[in-house]
Amino acid sequence: MIAPANSKGESERLEGVPGRYWHSVDDGRIQCDVCPRYCRLNEGQRGLCFVRGRQDGRIVLTTYGRSSGFCVDPIEKKPLNHYLPGTPVLSFGTAGCNLTCKFCQNWDISKARAFDRLQDVASPEDIVRAAIATGSRSIAYTYNDPVIFLEYAVDVAKVARRRGIKNVAVTAGYIAAGAREEMYGWMDAANVDLKAFTEEFYKRLCTGHLGAVLETLEYLKHRTQVWLEITTLLIPGCNDGREEIKKLSEWVMTKLGPDVPLHFTAFHPDYKMRDVAHTPARTLAMACDLARAVGLNFVYTGNVHDEIGQSTYCPGCGERLIGRDWYDITMWRLDGEGRCANCTASIPGLFEAQPGNWGQRRMPIRIGNWRARG
Ligand code: SF4
Repeated sequence: MIAPANSKGESERLEGVPGRYWHSVDDGRIQCDVCPRYCRLNEGQRGLCFVRGRQDGRIVLTTYGRSSGFCVDPIEKKPLNHYLPGTPVLSFGTAGCNLTCKFCQNWDISKARAFDRLQDVASPEDIVRAAIATGSRSIAYTYNDPVIFLEYAVDVAKVARRRGIKNVAVTAGYIAAGAREEMYGWMDAANVDLKAFTEEFYKRLCTGHLGAVLETLEYLKHRTQVWLEITTLLIPGCNDGREEIKKLSEWVMTKLGPDVPLHFTAFHPDYKMRDVAHTPARTLAMACDLARAVGLNFVYTGNVHDEIGQSTYCPGCGERLIGRDWYDITMWRLDGEGRCANCTASIPGLFEAQPGNWGQRRMPIRIGNWRARG
């Protein structure tokens, strides 16, 4: 699955910044150590993600400093329900991906090879300046997986942290151990896609491995301070069986505990899976019931209007504490300390006295409007 230098198989010079995770192997190739694909490359070859390649005997990241676009989104869209609810988040991605999901919901970006997708040239300082100017409380590395643009994401995150802006990774969690430590050292919150709970699904539909994702989840929960939420996109006939959902929920309960929010989101036909139907509402409801039955406290539906399934309930007294309808906050019953206003049970996450009022707006921006002049 290693790509030649360009789509015509011709050699081209790969321009980019040096990558940090690679080593030489005995047969003269060099191995990229960013993700569990461990692509082994000859001079001029790109890895499966297409944005990392070998040039002059080292790995370079060809998308550093260029983005496929910026948008101010609601944090609930990531989705993060327990992290500064109602606030805006400046979101961006680059191009390429290290998984090959046939159902990809952002395939125009993740599968992009022609870098005409990368319209916006943006330094870390430009991005953080735009986040502050738009009132964004955080920056999300999203649309495609930040794993493959790690060096760029980390440089942005360093500037953001200095300026009091939080950093949010939206990722499939398919990352190798060394790179994982660096990336999550700079993140404050993450939503990790747990795409299914069978090796067969990961192999057949994503050409990846489930075990590597589970390792990342355990790492995040037990070895970092990163706020963690999980999303599973339920695809009819592929990962929506009762047994599989029960096993997934039991794994989350046993390995991560009852307080990691789990989002079951609805599939819409896309990319190479246009012949599969939308997820029915009854499947989402069934999944939520199973996850709650094994003891998970915070289970949500997504990509649908479902105020009951998207609200947060107190695990202590059962009171509805945060009402949501898709990305809108419709009610709020937490005290200023993030506790239930009824029984004072603490709700895990990062909450302020009042939610933000960004609502469901999506505001595309041009980063150049905030570039420093001179
Ligand atoms: S990031 Fe992953 S897919 Fe990309 S070159 Fe490195 S090992 Fe290969």
